[in-house]
Amino acid sequence: MRHWNDIVLSVPVWLETWGQLNPDRLTEKQQRMALVIELAKKNLEQGGGPFAAAVFNRDTGDLIAPGVNWVVPGKSSLLHAEIMALALTEQILGDYEMAKHGSFELVTSVEPCCQCLGVLMWTGVSSLVCGAYSEDAEAIGFEEGPRLPDWEQKLMRRGIDVTRGVMRSNAIAILQSYRGEIYNSCLGVNDLNRS
Ligand SMILES: [Zn+2]
Repeated sequence: MRHWNDIVLSVPVWLETWGQLNPDRLTEKQQRMALVIELAKKNLEQGGGPFAAAVFNRDTGDLIAPGVNWVVPGKSSLLHAEIMALALTEQILGDYEMAKHGSFELVTSVEPCCQCLGVLMWTGVSSLVCGAYSEDAEAIGFEEGPRLPDWEQKLMRRGIDVTRGVMRSNAIAILQSYRGEIYNSCLGVNDLNRS
């Protein structure tokens, strides 16, 4: 018997009890990124991908929801860190229009792929803060997908502030310590482009 009334995406059990989920208010972007990078490190240890994210209230600095890349253990290509953090935030707010509830910032350890760029535009976040560049993820084989070269300006024109390269070297260190599966590898795509 099939049940199509709900779509269930798994959130790792350890995430709920992760010791750093109730920080003091983090008012600086760098503080928020430091927490996200710690979360990415923890996710690696738990068998997830080398990516993490979190949504913060921009004004108060409160952490609203964390997210980790759980694609392989959770068996879903939707389970990128940014998607998990945004979906949990919408669940907490009980709304798909986050902007109605305040001003929110999505902090992500690596720049968003084409999937996450699409989703974040529709959620109503007003700020995006990134650690490693897309090319840093591509350097270890992850593909970011076909994004417009001026994606940053496109977000800004929609009223979303973009800050890139925050604690980039720390985020790169997490990427480079990853020894798990590289799904959707860009290496094959680049090979195709070359031929
Ligand atoms: Zn993504």
